[in-house]
Amino acid sequence: MIKPARFTSLIAAPLALCASALAASPQAPAAKGKPAAVHSGEKAPDHAGGPVHWTYSGATGPDSWGDLADGFRQCKTGHMQSPIDLGASDIQGQINVRTAYRPGTMSVLNNGHTIQVNFPEGSILSSGIARYKLVQAHFHTPSEETIYGVPYPMVAHFVHTDYAGNLAVLGVLFEEGAHNPELDKIIKAAPRSEAAARLVDGVTLDPARLLPSDLAVWRYDGSLTTPPCSEGVRWHVAMQPVAASAAQIAAIHAIIGDNARPIQPRHGRLLVGGTSGQ
Ligand SMILES: [Zn+2]
Repeated sequence: MIKPARFTSLIAAPLALCASALAASPQAPAAKGKPAAVHSGEKAPDHAGGPVHWTYSGATGPDSWGDLADGFRQCKTGHMQSPIDLGASDIQGQINVRTAYRPGTMSVLNNGHTIQVNFPEGSILSSGIARYKLVQAHFHTPSEETIYGVPYPMVAHFVHTDYAGNLAVLGVLFEEGAHNPELDKIIKAAPRSEAAARLVDGVTLDPARLLPSDLAVWRYDGSLTTPPCSEGVRWHVAMQPVAASAAQIAAIHAIIGDNARPIQPRHGRLLVGGTSGQ
């Protein structure tokens, strides 16, 4: 794991500008205004007008996503795709990422690709000068992100959107360890097969309890990791993993299977390994 040196705080400002520029670029609009569809299977129509079927292996796997529908082309032509390997960051600096997550109701769905938790309004992620509201979190087994080529057994992607529909993701890596009580609420409620969102009666989920104590992050600009692979997504991945028991990780994997998109080329993108600034 990288031990970040404390440099100046000048990183936050350029990154904020960078995100604004991305949001205004012609590459970004596909991700705008569609936060709920981030991992919903994205029902882009095929030639017969039905939803496009995509998978994590075989003929409709990641190597073919860009050819499955016109709307998925960025999966193969994009130069700012996710996930990426996070091992070798270009620079280190203070990245001001803060969360103000609140306990609330929990809706859980299974979209055939992952388990997803939808959150009520009221939880906020700040990244530099930008603020985003928490919309949903979902899981990948193993983690899509690798560190020097090595994945963690699981990652949760907390997906946020700003007032204009720009997306920011906070990735939380899971390692095998102690039982995770907050995660258990999700596992107990998760539909075993494809099912629409359902409010879980009598359960309060505190998303803050799924975060590491230190929010030093890797930071880069990327994309959705599922079709349509839209770019303009502001990525943060916490350097400190959180624990879940082997049985919990296995329980989630039993539902979602191997659903990690392979690592994508950096194409010269800046990867910052940061300190939390707290
Ligand atoms: Zn994801």
